Amino acid sequence: DVLGADVALTDLPLRDDLRGRSPYGAPQLDVPVRLNTNENPYPPPPELVAEVAESVRAVAESLHRYPDRDAVALREDLAAYLSGATGVTVSHRNVWAANGSNEVLQQVLQAFGGPGRSALGFEPSYSMHPILSAGTRTEWLPAPRRADFSLDGPQAASIVAERRPDVVFVTSPNNPTGQAVSLQDLRSVLDAAPGIVVVDEAYVEFCDEPSAVGLIDEYPAKLIVSRTMSKAFAFAGGRLGYLAAAPAMIDALLLVRLPYHLSALTQAAARAALRHAKATLGSVQALVDERNRVVEALRGMGFSPVRSDANFVLFGRFEDAHAAWRRYLDAGVLIRDVGIAGHLRVTIGTPEENDAFLAAGKALVDAAS
Ligand code: PMP
Repeated sequence: DVLGADVALTDLPLRDDLRGRSPYGAPQLDVPVRLNTNENPYPPPPELVAEVAESVRAVAESLHRYPDRDAVALREDLAAYLSGATGVTVSHRNVWAANGSNEVLQQVLQAFGGPGRSALGFEPSYSMHPILSAGTRTEWLPAPRRADFSLDGPQAASIVAERRPDVVFVTSPNNPTGQAVSLQDLRSVLDAAPGIVVVDEAYVEFCDEPSAVGLIDEYPAKLIVSRTMSKAFAFAGGRLGYLAAAPAMIDALLLVRLPYHLSALTQAAARAALRHAKATLGSVQALVDERNRVVEALRGMGFSPVRSDANFVLFGRFEDAHAAWRRYLDAGVLIRDVGIAGHLRVTIGTPEENDAFLAAGKALVDAAS
């Protein structure tokens, strides 16, 4: 018997606006091939593991003290990485970090959203944007994409001009559909936006479009570029997300962040991982090549993959996507039913994992014919 288990969620005095909602819930199942949460399939190399362990051991000696509340050393390392990756000189005063980009985005909504305010996103997109909006009582305004799931820049700009949201989310490359957004389209949205524009670049390392970081100087009072170490950096378990923006944006986030939100262990581990960025990011090209192989193979089998600039592919069409998802799972391959009719999303894994995924798809096609 579990203490208090006779009380149900519906018995609690929960906020009315949270009643009946579902939590974020990608299934965490123990199956041989897990291609459902867009992680890097390659574990960290032994040198990185050793350096993380040594860094954590060193900070363990001062765990009786709170960590650096402003994570300055880590932000300096992230700024150096961003400068190198984008060619734009980024200072640590342009960078903020938190426990995953989810926390970064939540802080942005705490500061710039909230009751009486709104956030707009182009759906389908990352499901946490509306969930974080709900949690911060920011009204969610869904806006459309083209039928092929790409963003129509001029249409996006006119919707933003009309709805005047306090926060706009543009995910580039977009999750779960895969396409990146051009700087020209981003400029259209930024020019139209009355408030903040968050460009969510969780998958940017996998794409060829330039980063929106290059636009910060043009739009310092509007633009926030969020990033993560969870994908290309192979550090999802470390929980480290960050953003780049004008220093004043970071002053705003300091008003809502919890004191000491980033543990000394996280800061030390992330800095150690960043010292091995080159090796970790070495897997990016291999994953892009595998993505292109998977897209071709899917097409060859009669599926319709959506063009992807990321480390995952949305593909269809299925009569019943959820039933198809189950059949992949029965074959030991966990992919994602993202709730788009007729489609499923697969994360690009190792060549062996991708082969297992393609074989399961082939079996599905053969069974149907
Ligand atoms: N943004 C997008 C578009 C994502 O897909 C994800 C992860 N699924 C995140 C942000 C959050 O990732 P994390 O909190 O691990 O940085």
